[in-house]
Amino acid sequence: MADKSCPANSRRLREPDESGRPDFAFRAERVVVFVDGCFWHMCPKHFHMPANNRAFWKKKLTANQARDRLVTKTLRTAGWRVVRIWEHDLRKPARVLVRLRAALGG
Ligand SMILES: [Zn+2]
Repeated sequence: MADKSCPANSRRLREPDESGRPDFAFRAERVVVFVDGCFWHMCPKHFHMPANNRAFWKKKLTANQARDRLVTKTLRTAGWRVVRIWEHDLRKPARVLVRLRAALGG
């Protein structure tokens, strides 16, 4: 259960389907954070459809997107605040921190 990427005050959720396995969960504050990979989640800035097996990738990746939307909606309905951060946002950590602070209530 030890995970070096998790701060001490967050814990990984264990409910894989409904929660979509957030990267971080701040249970007391009811905030979950996802870090979405630019490829797997089809980032509008960096995603390029692979040249080979396009039909396969399109099906797989659009299913990922649909799942992201469903997971976000399900969690919000359950009262969680959902923060989605693009992989490329991690290059600007100050901006990520602003969003996290806002979500966590300052
Ligand atoms: Zn990106």
